[in-house]
Amino acid sequence: MRVSIDWQVCVGAGCCAAALPGTFTLVESAQGPRAILLRPAADDDLRAAAAACPTLAICLEDDAGGRYPQDLLEG
Ligand code: SF4
Repeated sequence: MRVSIDWQVCVGAGCCAAALPGTFTLVESAQGPRAILLRPAADDDLRAAAAACPTLAICLEDDAGGRYPQDLLEG
């Protein structure tokens, strides 16, 4: 599972770090706190963390080409 975090969308709410501590954490940036990925996690855990993000900033792409949240938004 490939993971990226869109810092243009992340608002530093921290739900990802609360859902998966040790995998996501917050760092300070010029725009305020932003999430980074510290280490990989199980796909289901990553999906749960991405679903917990209030701004859909966590983007996932699986080996089958499935993309979140793009697939959700594009219907
Ligand atoms: S839950 Fe979303 S908005 Fe909040 S810190 Fe994580 S990536 Fe950013």
